[in-house]
Amino acid sequence: ASLVRGIAAARKTGLKPKAIIPVDLFGQSADHDGVAEVARAEGLFVLDDAAQSFGATYKGRRLGGIADATATSFFPAKPLGCYGDGGAIFTDDDELAQTLRSIRVHGQGADKYDNVRLGLTGRLDTMQAAVLLEKLKIFEDEIAARNAVAERYARALDNVVTVPRLAEGNTSVWAQYTIRLPNGGRDAFAAALKERGVPTAIYYGKSLHQQTAYRHYPVAEGGLPVSERLSADVISLPMHPYLDAATQERIIAAVHEAVA
Ligand SMILES: *Cc1c(COP(=O)(O)O)cnc(C)c1O
Repeated sequence: ASLVRGIAAARKTGLKPKAIIPVDLFGQSADHDGVAEVARAEGLFVLDDAAQSFGATYKGRRLGGIADATATSFFPAKPLGCYGDGGAIFTDDDELAQTLRSIRVHGQGADKYDNVRLGLTGRLDTMQAAVLLEKLKIFEDEIAARNAVAERYARALDNVVTVPRLAEGNTSVWAQYTIRLPNGGRDAFAAALKERGVPTAIYYGKSLHQQTAYRHYPVAEGGLPVSERLSADVISLPMHPYLDAATQERIIAAVHEAVA
């Protein structure tokens, strides 16, 4: 509903919205049917940001094949990370794919020394591709391991903090395990965990529309109060496929003590 209001707010100021960029945050899919309905009604292109959610599914379909185009990231911190920078774009549109290949290599045309548009240096480094090929072989196992870690957290913390839930029809790759605290006090909670040797992180302390680069753009009427409240509220616990049960028990105990 706020997406429709946001598009209307943009149009009212004379802007011409071209696309919607839903973000599949923390490893879980956005509401793509809802987004597609708005995109169809408003005539907008959908670019899915699946940087955190490559490998996740939405109603039985893999992210990457749902929007007009989907971008993902292979930055080391992502579920499928290489050892430097990397990423990929997925689309079923052959013409768009050809344009993207050209943009990736300096706007390349018919051959190496023909340039038909302004492009980027967007090649995936061969060394990073080699890392990704090997990690792709164990990716399904790593997703299963992340899900086991998430289930252990949920069982142990469900009545202590607000734990993340999967929307119906979603599977997650658990890029982050992000919780909400019952009575605020995020800084004190982070400090208490740090004291017990448990690192935490805040994703993200600022909503997108609060970033300097975006602050002068219109937002949906009524603002984005949920987004703002959550960015003041959320904190993420350690999450990776190799978090063993004993270590996780220590983290869980630290959370219990810090909340008590
Ligand atoms: C990491 C991330 C990006 C950026 O990925 P890069 O590989 O740095 O371009 C974009 N969107 C989301 C949601 C991310 O988590």
